[in-house]
Amino acid sequence: MKNALEVKKLVKYFPVKNSKNQVVHAVDNVSFSIQKGKTLGLVGESGCGKSTCARTIIRIHKPTSGEILIDGENIANKSQKELQSIRRKMQMIFQDPYASLNGRMIVRDLIAEPLIAHNIIRRSSEAQDLIEEMLERVGLQKEHINRYAHEFSGGQRQRICIARALILKPDIILCDEPISALDVSIQAQIVNMLKQFQNDLGLTYLFIAHDLSMVRYVSDDVGVMYLGKLVELCEAVEIYRKPLHPYTKGLLSSIPIPSPKLAREKVHPGITGDIASPINVPTGCRFHTRCKEKLKVCEEIEPEIKEISDNHYVACHLYK
Ligand code: SF4
Repeated sequence: MKNALEVKKLVKYFPVKNSKNQVVHAVDNVSFSIQKGKTLGLVGESGCGKSTCARTIIRIHKPTSGEILIDGENIANKSQKELQSIRRKMQMIFQDPYASLNGRMIVRDLIAEPLIAHNIIRRSSEAQDLIEEMLERVGLQKEHINRYAHEFSGGQRQRICIARALILKPDIILCDEPISALDVSIQAQIVNMLKQFQNDLGLTYLFIAHDLSMVRYVSDDVGVMYLGKLVELCEAVEIYRKPLHPYTKGLLSSIPIPSPKLAREKVHPGITGDIASPINVPTGCRFHTRCKEKLKVCEEIEPEIKEISDNHYVACHLYK
């Protein structure tokens, strides 16, 4: 099947304020691809670079180096003007539905904004029917069209954000922790709705989350990031069945287990300590400062990500 999105050796460094030489290694040599109509879940702790990776893919940030291929076309070095048509194909849903919507705008204007920005309509009233239909598709009512964003709950606001993202009929949606800020009771509804849209419209998703439980039911493949690096990548079922990287095993162990008996029998050790600084990244394997399985070589040589078994990629010296 064709790739909708392919990222090759993507790097994004940010300069450190008041420093000539230091940089934040936010995304460092990350490669992955997502087939049309599929979902890649990207997980890791805060500060691991997953959100920066998505923001670089959609070109909020300019990449330091690497390629971003949308339907085979590299957009990494395109100008903002050249990106205009690509942006219709790719939209983003952000974590905080309170920050992403201007509470003093009415729903009709909020959802029409991308259509106006892309010169499809001139004023929101021209898209009244389309917006009403979209509101119903995201589980709101068409009567909501003249209400202000501040009148809605977090879950309803995220539905408005999804309507805004879908109104341009994109092929790819970058979902940056779209359910993390919502009540647990609402999270499943939003995930199910996103899955339904994927089935109906053949959408491709990059779905970012900070733990493995959140991407379990949406992802075809899962990638795990640590301190700017992709450390493990494989099919979703495989990562839960047979995680290989010590960091992935630690992330899995931090998923709450409802049964006390199973919790006591936990197979994988948890992760202790804090994530290292992305400015002064550790030598060798970046995870060695917290790894319970580290070898001598780990402090000296950085492991490359390699295919260990069929479509299962790991960056760790434990695997040859
Ligand atoms: Fe641990 Fe070494 Fe593997 Fe890094 S390379 S995860 S330190 S065993």
